[in-house]
Amino acid sequence: MRLGKLGYYGDFLVYPLIVVILGVALVRRNTAGHQTGWAACVLGGAALWTLLEYLIHRTFLHRGGVFTVMHAEHHAFPRAYIGTPAWISVPTFTLLVAAPAWLLGGGNVAGGLTGGIMLGYWWYGVVHHVIHHRTALPFARYFSRLRRHHQLHHHSAIGGNFGVTTVMWDVLLGTTIAAPITPRSAPQARHPKI
Ligand SMILES: [Zn+2]
Ligand SMILES: [Zn+2]
Repeated sequence: MRLGKLGYYGDFLVYPLIVVILGVALVRRNTAGHQTGWAACVLGGAALWTLLEYLIHRTFLHRGGVFTVMHAEHHAFPRAYIGTPAWISVPTFTLLVAAPAWLLGGGNVAGGLTGGIMLGYWWYGVVHHVIHHRTALPFARYFSRLRRHHQLHHHSAIGGNFGVTTVMWDVLLGTTIAAPITPRSAPQARHPKI
């Protein structure tokens, strides 16, 4: 949905803050020995996010329904401040990730997994913002590849390239859009006519 500047940029602060709070809660609550498991859950959650990002984009955002209508607006206006406000996304993560993880694995697993998924979501927001809003790219090699991948998603008539922070799931699940051959990248004739 359309957001104000505060709502749009707020995510970039809210999520790191929650992850720090979760980390501090762990340190205050636990004796030594739990940190490694917590860190493993964070890493696992961040990795899991990359798959969730791919699946949510491929299904809910492109297969019809209310979320597809909202996402279509981003496709029409890629630089507009469109997103999910934190007052919706934070309770959603709490309900769908933290609560079941707490019931199944306890506080450490829930805190770590939720923190990892939130870190992944935050990074997704950063990458997507950089792709659409920055002309001079930081970490050019990493971002320019992802920008090309995502721009093909926006502009190709063929559906695909659903990953934003990684191209891995598109490669593994066969949804990579083949880049059109540009004059610069077109193969040269071996024996050009003179
Ligand atoms: Zn899309
Ligand atoms: Zn986009």
